[in-house]
Amino acid sequence: MIPRERHHRKDPAHRIDESRYRRFSVENQAFVTVGMQDTGKKGILHFTEKMFANMMANIYSDVPGNSRLDYAADLGANALNLILGSYGFPNSRFLAWNPLFVPEPLRHRKWEAGAGDMTRIVKAQARLYGADLVGVARLDSKWVYAEDLEKPFVFENADDPSEERDRFVIPASVQTAIVIAVAMNQELIEASPAAASSTAASLGYSRMAISAVSLAEFIRSLGYTAIPCMNDTALSIPLAIDAGLGELGRHGLLITPEFGSNVRLCKVLTNMPLLADSPVDFGIARFCRNCLACVDHCPSKSISAGEPSFEVACANNNPGVEKWTIDAEACLRFWQENGHSCANCIAVCPFTAGFDFTHCLECVDCDSEGCGLQEISYLRKKHGYPTRSNDDDSDALVSPLSRRGL
Ligand code: SF4
Ligand code: SF4
Repeated sequence: MIPRERHHRKDPAHRIDESRYRRFSVENQAFVTVGMQDTGKKGILHFTEKMFANMMANIYSDVPGNSRLDYAADLGANALNLILGSYGFPNSRFLAWNPLFVPEPLRHRKWEAGAGDMTRIVKAQARLYGADLVGVARLDSKWVYAEDLEKPFVFENADDPSEERDRFVIPASVQTAIVIAVAMNQELIEASPAAASSTAASLGYSRMAISAVSLAEFIRSLGYTAIPCMNDTALSIPLAIDAGLGELGRHGLLITPEFGSNVRLCKVLTNMPLLADSPVDFGIARFCRNCLACVDHCPSKSISAGEPSFEVACANNNPGVEKWTIDAEACLRFWQENGHSCANCIAVCPFTAGFDFTHCLECVDCDSEGCGLQEISYLRKKHGYPTRSNDDDSDALVSPLSRRGL
């Protein structure tokens, strides 16, 4: 990760209208609302019925980019995701909220170390388990889902997390989120809307499942509580912003300095006393105001060309948070039509291909409209964003990292 210290935000990372904000419910996710419209059944994966029907149509018609071989690659990439956690059903399979294989004597005997050492070691372990980026946030309960499909998430004074008949119990001592980003394969993502981009996403899910499950078990082996989460239990993007991994883009996704939006996110909630990172500002809000590449390339017209707003675009947005809102149902309808997921907005975002950060990191305090980089974004948005070398004498940061993912 590039050093974050120079880019700590001075203003709040989220603008929230407390009078309107309410914790988001899983049943308001587009996956659920679209599935309900299609089948009359409540569930996260019912929307896939139409998508899979179009997948078969693509295969039978041998549509270029959506052949049987292309889908086979996707199904293979998705296998560990489905085995370990199925995109995230809370407290399910290997995403169990309590230790999987930790010997009993270790479960309640806490490893003692200073918070700085603990944080350093936990982050290093996360990287070992596959994290490309890792940050720590104070767990803001605003970002914890109000309820899963059947029952609420509640904080209680409890020793261990548990799933009761009528609620999921998160111990009140769980006040920290470790947020992990795994980078996706850039070349596959850039094939969107062909099936190869879905393979990149599926592999990202499988890798994030391994990372979250492994890190949670590591922490539980040290005597602390750890709740591994994929898409479940809490909203990953605001937690990732709080953990300093990146900023929110116009397309509703996290943009990181290292990999742009080409990441998948998971998190581990814990009572381990870790040092929190700070949110960053590397100019995304200003950049997105002038770059509309994702708007232009969204086949479902789901991305707003307007200003960030407290207004919701549809029932799938949580109210009371200022942001660019996404018409998530329209997006998902395109996935169904496409026969698999879409990643156009990730593929065309200039931060996915990357460039050196000479400009966008250095011009945080710049007030001029239409800076050089933004002009470049207009000119090149149809043609990609090759990496440029840092050819001046400044001490500007240049990302030395691979942007490719696995
Ligand atoms: S995933 Fe595709 S359809 Fe959905 S918002 Fe992004 S570009 Fe639009
Ligand atoms: S494509 Fe442009 S407007 Fe869209 S998220 Fe990326 S930088 Fe922002």
